[in-house]
Amino acid sequence: MQRRNFLATLLPAAAASRLTAQPEQSWGGPVLDTHLHLRADADACFTHMRGCGVTNAVLLTPAADQQRAKAEMARRPGHFVRSVRIDPSLAESGQLLRDSLRDGAVSIGELKFHLALDSKEMRRVYDIAAEFQVPVMMHIQNFPHFAGELPYNTGYPEFDKVLRAYPRTTFIGHGDLFWAHISADVPTDRGYPAGPVKAGGLTDRWLSDFPNLYGDLSANSGNNALSRDPEFSRGFLSRHKTKLIFGSDCSCSDGNGAGVSQNNNPEASRLAGKCVARETLTLLQRLASSQVFRAVTWENGVKLFKVRT
Ligand SMILES: [Zn+2]
Ligand SMILES: [Zn+2]
Repeated sequence: MQRRNFLATLLPAAAASRLTAQPEQSWGGPVLDTHLHLRADADACFTHMRGCGVTNAVLLTPAADQQRAKAEMARRPGHFVRSVRIDPSLAESGQLLRDSLRDGAVSIGELKFHLALDSKEMRRVYDIAAEFQVPVMMHIQNFPHFAGELPYNTGYPEFDKVLRAYPRTTFIGHGDLFWAHISADVPTDRGYPAGPVKAGGLTDRWLSDFPNLYGDLSANSGNNALSRDPEFSRGFLSRHKTKLIFGSDCSCSDGNGAGVSQNNNPEASRLAGKCVARETLTLLQRLASSQVFRAVTWENGVKLFKVRT
């Protein structure tokens, strides 16, 4: 038995990873997780990264938690940048976004609120993103994960109007409906469609047509989109190799699938007990050339979030 495996049988994986100098898994180079939510426990994000072989991360951070994120970053210098998010319908949102961006936040998001993509509240955010030259990430979902859940960032089928109206704003799409639209047919009775992709989907077209649109492959939504039709995915990854970014949105505790990986979302049960970061990185390794893998897991995100290395 190798020493690492031996240790893993004695200790929880998170504790074992703290004893080793290197991450438990290597992906052949640095990996940036562009979608890691700031956690309640100190250093818990770093523990997750160590477990799944992620070297750097964008900490998605509410405006109210900026100081806490800064403390996490100070504890592990060279590993993190942070975003800022706030409900754009709050009167103070503009001021708080600007304050955090002046104070070093590198992006806005993720924005997961019950607003239309083309609403005046969201338009105010797009202007601020352009002013500070930072990307804005939106969670786009209409099918509920649980009874009574309202849709987020509605109006995606007309989102091209926004992309055209805000050429100086960089948009990052994420979430169930954004990824369902890689296909030209989008079922209305579920959030994560399975089976072959029909050519001509809005997301596929818009990633080609608009230089200001990027796609975040995190969560079950991104993993499902890549898994459902491997032949399509190979072409999709190569077609949009400069426009796609790896992210996990994983909530497992140790980077190995312990705890809860998809916030108990029953629709995402296919990833229960698994680490989304590991699953999606494994998929990307299988579907993309090593050059595209590097671009999607590191280079594109480093550029987008101005990560200093
Ligand atoms: Zn989300
Ligand atoms: Zn995980």
